[in-house]
Amino acid sequence: MTSAGSSAEVASRLGREAPSPRVLSGPVDVCVDRPLLSLDRPFTYDLPAELGAGVGSLVQVPFHGRNTRGWVLGPSDLTPSRLLEVRKLVSPARAFDERGLSLFRWVAERYVAPLATVVGRAVPPRVASEEQGRGGVGPTPAPDPWSGAWMSELFAAYVDGERLLRAIASGEGAFVLRPAPEDEAAAAVAAVSACLAAGRRAIVIVPEARPLPATAVAVREAFGERATTFVGGDARTRYRTWLDIAEGAFDIVIGTRPAVFAPLDRPGLVYVARESHPAHREDRSPYYHVRDVALARVRADGGVCVLAASCPSAEAAALGVPTVAPKERRWPPVEVVKPGPEGRAPRLVRALGEAERAFVFSPLPGYGVAQLCASCREPAACAACGGLLRAQGGAIRCVVCGAEGRCRSCGARTFGVRKGGAERVEEWAGGIARVPVHRLREDEPSRLPGTAEILIGGPDDVRDLGAGNLDLVAILDADLAGRRPGLSARERSLATWMEAVGWARPRGRAIVQASEPGDPMVQALVRGNPDRFHRDEADRRREAGLPLGAAVFRIMGSDALEGELSAFEPWTLLVSATEGRTVCLLALDPERVAALGKRLRELVTEGVVDRVEAEPHL
Ligand SMILES: [Zn+2]
Ligand SMILES: [Zn+2]
Repeated sequence: MTSAGSSAEVASRLGREAPSPRVLSGPVDVCVDRPLLSLDRPFTYDLPAELGAGVGSLVQVPFHGRNTRGWVLGPSDLTPSRLLEVRKLVSPARAFDERGLSLFRWVAERYVAPLATVVGRAVPPRVASEEQGRGGVGPTPAPDPWSGAWMSELFAAYVDGERLLRAIASGEGAFVLRPAPEDEAAAAVAAVSACLAAGRRAIVIVPEARPLPATAVAVREAFGERATTFVGGDARTRYRTWLDIAEGAFDIVIGTRPAVFAPLDRPGLVYVARESHPAHREDRSPYYHVRDVALARVRADGGVCVLAASCPSAEAAALGVPTVAPKERRWPPVEVVKPGPEGRAPRLVRALGEAERAFVFSPLPGYGVAQLCASCREPAACAACGGLLRAQGGAIRCVVCGAEGRCRSCGARTFGVRKGGAERVEEWAGGIARVPVHRLREDEPSRLPGTAEILIGGPDDVRDLGAGNLDLVAILDADLAGRRPGLSARERSLATWMEAVGWARPRGRAIVQASEPGDPMVQALVRGNPDRFHRDEADRRREAGLPLGAAVFRIMGSDALEGELSAFEPWTLLVSATEGRTVCLLALDPERVAALGKRLRELVTEGVVDRVEAEPHL
């Protein structure tokens, strides 16, 4: 990486000096960098004016007899008679301003997480040598007016498209956007363009960094140096980019999860691409979801949040916000066929024989599954752990423990295998296709098929790779989707199918092999519209005691926990005990979370609670 933004370059891009952030003195609240719920409250210190510190300044304070870092939160309401003094200013760059702080506080409250943890997640680690002469987060001038209006005619063909553009131009709100597959990237460009035309800045969040999704590439190409990509990179580059963003050097930030916290001053648009993608959920506690943080951010800052996906999440669908979708069907014809012998419906075989460019979605890896031991005829199972044995890459291995496949009964290594899986599909498809057939290997970058090629891939290969223009997309083993564990497994499967089937736009078709054509998932795929599926999901979640829109927590602690949590009248409270600890799973009205969080912080101090997980994986 080369130096992308010295202060001088940044200043010239801005064309004017930003006003200095406010300097505070006297009693201030400080968030000490000790990320524990029991210490999750402001501590008051006396801030000397000559430090030049203010909201968001990283300072050093004495805490329990030690020098500890912390962030200035603002003037304190308390004026205790004897205050310890802030010792020094650690960094000249402010980590947040009042708006950023209120967003971090929202996250800390909603996910019952220490504010220090949230700040640590939202602000990249400092690289001190990048900070010379930098101000960090502070007031920034308004962006230059943007006269271009890229692709804004695109939304004329969408229900509520004009309404979306009006909201972006002048107001606030949230929208679900189901772009036609070939419009996916262009819709993001059009929305960002409308935002810039209104003189505001935009954030575009994509689920993955590598390969950079086509949506991110399109936005970057459309807006050139006004946009920056805040994805991956080494610590120095990341911090430098973050500082540049904070100083107003860019009007558009394109990034993965952390970009939802990008220090842009009041973004007019936060656009979440592939909103239902699991990578939009943080994988370390607190498990914040980009969707929820984005919605909170635009509510506070007065912008528009767009949740875009062919198949939005059930949570997004349950928000009750307007859905912007094509006025006419812009979805490939989808034919449902019953899986034939060995999962090969005659219709599919014929279609693959004729295809020039096709993608075959085969979610099962390998060549097949061992059924019976060839020596003793007992059902096949792993000798080490009893797990399933799968033939893959020319060997038989246990899918659970990875051991070499040996019969649990007699130790033999030869099995009768029931064929099925991506390797087997590659074999039979290779025998009937008139173009080369290639199976994407695990270590191979995902891509679309070449000009004359049939590609076989699994869930990891279905990414935002741009418009497909394929003649055929085949979805195999659709029946498996209903059997996967996890609350959102069905939703994830449907989203993956829809994203793959979208590659058949605008001229191709799709074939899905499914035993139950009436299943709401299969129907959603045929229609290209998940509305009915979402109603079905909402019912399922309600029946499971975890209704959409509920705040869900898993809390561990002593046996006093159940009584404490019941006081919050949860919709669901499941209690189990293991090794002397009580584990509670509760779902409750989000309105009650603030009070719950306040009590949990006390209970941590009292030793009743020892762990809190918000929105755990279920
Ligand atoms: Zn095993
Ligand atoms: Zn055997």
